[in-house]
Amino acid sequence: MKDINQVPFFPYSRLFTNHQEKYLEIINDVLSRGAFILQKDLSDFETKLADFLGVKHAIGVSDCTNGLFAGLLAAGISSGDEVIFPSHTFVASAGAIKLAGAKPIPCDINLNDGMMNPADIERHITQHTKAIMPVQLNGRTCNMDAIASVAEEYGLIIVEDSAQALGSSYKGKNAGTFGLFGAFSFYPAKTLGCFGDGGAVVTNDDLIADSVRLFRNHGRANETDISGWGGNSRLDNVQAAFLNFQLLRYETTIERRREIASKYQSSFSAISDLKLPPGPDNSGDNFDIFQNYELKSNHRDELRSYLSEQGIETMIQWGGKAVHQHQNLGLSMALPGVESYFKECMLLPMNSLMTNNEVDYVCESIKTFYDI
Ligand SMILES: *Cc1c(COP(=O)(O)O)cnc(C)c1O
Repeated sequence: MKDINQVPFFPYSRLFTNHQEKYLEIINDVLSRGAFILQKDLSDFETKLADFLGVKHAIGVSDCTNGLFAGLLAAGISSGDEVIFPSHTFVASAGAIKLAGAKPIPCDINLNDGMMNPADIERHITQHTKAIMPVQLNGRTCNMDAIASVAEEYGLIIVEDSAQALGSSYKGKNAGTFGLFGAFSFYPAKTLGCFGDGGAVVTNDDLIADSVRLFRNHGRANETDISGWGGNSRLDNVQAAFLNFQLLRYETTIERRREIASKYQSSFSAISDLKLPPGPDNSGDNFDIFQNYELKSNHRDELRSYLSEQGIETMIQWGGKAVHQHQNLGLSMALPGVESYFKECMLLPMNSLMTNNEVDYVCESIKTFYDI
């Protein structure tokens, strides 16, 4: 442990070097086949991903943001509509709603786990509300029973930003499969990360699937026919080939993340200044995959600078603000829960590429800060 003096928040180069030979083999194979766009590696990946999630369709797209956008268009969301989303999320959730022509309406979160607060949704519903977009944050799935019951009562559709939650579930059902569609991200630092941008839309609805498939490829129904307006949001075939390899090992990836979360949980449970996320072994209806390990501290800024002096990189999500707190977006309103949450929250390094020594070093450093 003594020889450690740096723990990166995410070790980007390790993503490649961990299985360098295998990736070079994949590059060699795919590139020498000339299989670049909409090829077999992509359709294989789509089949495997749909099987993994137990969903009818998975459609590879360029990234999650475009996936959300394509899904919203397919769902008929357009100008004049309102879509409610939790303000503790990446700006992309709101951006996709805005790009679809609709109005993003932020709502508050639970203080214990940072997830969309189902009880706060109702007060944001107007005659223009069309959809609720829960965000399956940090690898955890929202209380989907409560959200579904609001949606049902008001006749709203559910569309999921499940960018952070591949393999996470609630009452045995996978994140991304609750609503009309779900969108995933394969950004390098996500739990299933490729070497650049990547994403997927998943759905059980044939019409949504057709519409997203057409949209991602210029509205082209076949070689000659254009069925409508579209754009270009395809997932590169070579990225799909990397993802195929990673998906084979994905259960192990999740296990490793949950193991690190357990270690954090047991190391910090005695520190009363820290409010920990729900742990992996004690989460009732939830199975969490720990895209992030987000905790809260009353001495957050001091803790972060101490860890930084020890060479440990930490982060506050989204540049330290909830979406509605970014003035330039014009979504200002009062959401007391998420505002107080952002005074205390931070992320510890959490990824399957961390060594045991690194995890121990993070634990010991935090204990030293708290003098225990
Ligand atoms: C990463 C992320 C996105 C965006 O994913 P991209 O693939 O980078 O477009 C959207 N929402 C959330 C919650 C995310 O974490």
